[in-house]
Amino acid sequence: MNERVRAELTEFLEGLKHEGLFKEERVIESAQGRQITVSGRPVLNFCANNYLGLSGDRRIVEAAQRAMDRWGFGLSSVRFICGTQAVHKELEAAISSFLRTEDTILFSSCYDANAALFEPLLGEEDTIISDELNHASIIDGIRLSKARRLRYRHSDMGALEACLAESGESRRRLIATDGVFSMDGDVAKLKEICALAERYDALVAVDDSHATGYLGETGRGSVELCGVEGRVDLITTTFGKACGGASGGCISGRRLLVDLYRQRARPYLFSNTLAPAICGGTLEVLRILEADDQLRKRTMENANLFRSLMISAGFDIIAAETAIVAVMVYDEAKAVELATRLLDEGIYVIGFSYPVVAKGKARIRVQLSASHTQEDIVRAVEAFKTVGRAMGLLS
Ligand SMILES: *Cc1c(COP(=O)(O)O)cnc(C)c1O
Repeated sequence: MNERVRAELTEFLEGLKHEGLFKEERVIESAQGRQITVSGRPVLNFCANNYLGLSGDRRIVEAAQRAMDRWGFGLSSVRFICGTQAVHKELEAAISSFLRTEDTILFSSCYDANAALFEPLLGEEDTIISDELNHASIIDGIRLSKARRLRYRHSDMGALEACLAESGESRRRLIATDGVFSMDGDVAKLKEICALAERYDALVAVDDSHATGYLGETGRGSVELCGVEGRVDLITTTFGKACGGASGGCISGRRLLVDLYRQRARPYLFSNTLAPAICGGTLEVLRILEADDQLRKRTMENANLFRSLMISAGFDIIAAETAIVAVMVYDEAKAVELATRLLDEGIYVIGFSYPVVAKGKARIRVQLSASHTQEDIVRAVEAFKTVGRAMGLLS
């Protein structure tokens, strides 16, 4: 390897370690679930996006196995050459029915769905208006388009309106937002956003990755929670979180737009089709969600219980109405230490720091699942209290 590059990169990575910003991967020695095995020890897991507890559910595993038996392991093709099976069309129809949209197009991830979202629809004459806390995949998707970009302060509707006014000369305008913001856990103000979009003649795209399956009266996400069904033009979401947690994503929305993506979306045209086992497993998730709303109710009961116990204990919690609870620590190194010491107590959580969140805004993101028991939650809060006191985080 080139010596100069080696020296530069070594210094960069050592610097990260020095600042407490170096991310270590912990290897899990079991299936994903409420309790997992880490370093040979069982720990309670509070950092998966496994909101409905379906990641290890036998019904999903068996549905995926049946799909693999019937449709094979893979297709060795993109969709438009020879990568479309009946199971792909069935999944697209099931998602449209679940999200109550006109049509859906699958991608191998929501990252890819967001990479596809902007470029075919918005060019040099157009403007994309984006919340400053949008997920990295939205930011990267926007970069792939030649459209003008405007960014507004997080959930600041005055700032959004100023951007809309500023884009007055554009041919098309699109507002892009997360439905649930992954690091703070708060919900976008979709009612206000849709009203502004209608007033200023803009399209609306919502990434509901952290909401689809458990948020809203029947689990249809932030769009349902905010009562804006039919007013959002495009929804992107993942199957890699609440909906079984394997992988895969989609764009769902107006049929005309989905037609455009089938012709022009580059991650769809130039990347392999979704594996049949994932289609089969995800179809089973949707069947379970249509038949039974106990799971999503339990997710929210658990989240509300954890949130209220942590607030009573004196922790600094970001206000939100989702299963993401951000426990603010601010200091990078302290967040890492808190997570490490919680793991010693048998509670698996992760400290998030720059560049995932802003500098000086380090936190522990706790994620609740339908699979947690009340005792699990009480145990986690007690561990937070013990370690929080020992570290001087609680007065
Ligand atoms: C997780 C997430 C993604 C990425 O989803 P993948 O399917 O894992 O690529 C995209 N957008 C948001 C808001 C997310 O939270």
